[in-house]
Amino acid sequence: MPDPRIVPFKKKKGISDDLFQRLLEKGKDHDISTIYPFDPVKIVIAEWVNLKCRYGCTRYNTNWSCPPATPGPEQAQRIISEYSLALMLVGSKNYQNFCLENTKKRAVQVRCWKGTIVMERMLFLAGYYKAFSLVGECCGLCKQCSFPKDCRFPQEKRPAVESFSIDVIGTLHNLRLATQIALNKTDTFNYYGIILLE
Ligand code: SF4
Repeated sequence: MPDPRIVPFKKKKGISDDLFQRLLEKGKDHDISTIYPFDPVKIVIAEWVNLKCRYGCTRYNTNWSCPPATPGPEQAQRIISEYSLALMLVGSKNYQNFCLENTKKRAVQVRCWKGTIVMERMLFLAGYYKAFSLVGECCGLCKQCSFPKDCRFPQEKRPAVESFSIDVIGTLHNLRLATQIALNKTDTFNYYGIILLE
């Protein structure tokens, strides 16, 4: 029987090159091409993001990963202040009508969602016991979310980045990462997730 492996808890230690490479490799399987480590104080939280969820989004009050099921702006700010490191996960895609709800879009959502959760798990097993994901877009693991009935996959349920009132564009500007809005149905679009760590 192999010796039990003892993994020390990580705290304010950054991420080793080896683990970072393993995360990048795993990300590629899930269409996440880039990972930026950064200080979570650079995350911009704003009340207007929650306003956009409440007014103008069809997902509001229909999905466990979206408001009002998720923490409001003040609680989100408090939660993020408990972390000292964050990873910005970035993927990009190009296909017709990416802005419409369809099978293709859901397949991308699910692949990215699962990849983020897998990476969170890898980090947890490497000693980052506080690792927690905020995933890009709303949860699409089920064709139709069971909300307000119990989630069908609670172990994979996480809040969407925007549901935490995170101004994604403002945060990307803070990180000096170039981005632009996809204006045409054929434009390449980016999607973003965040993993919080200490
Ligand atoms: S796993 Fe299914 S039920 Fe749970 S939040 Fe996602 S879509 Fe909703």
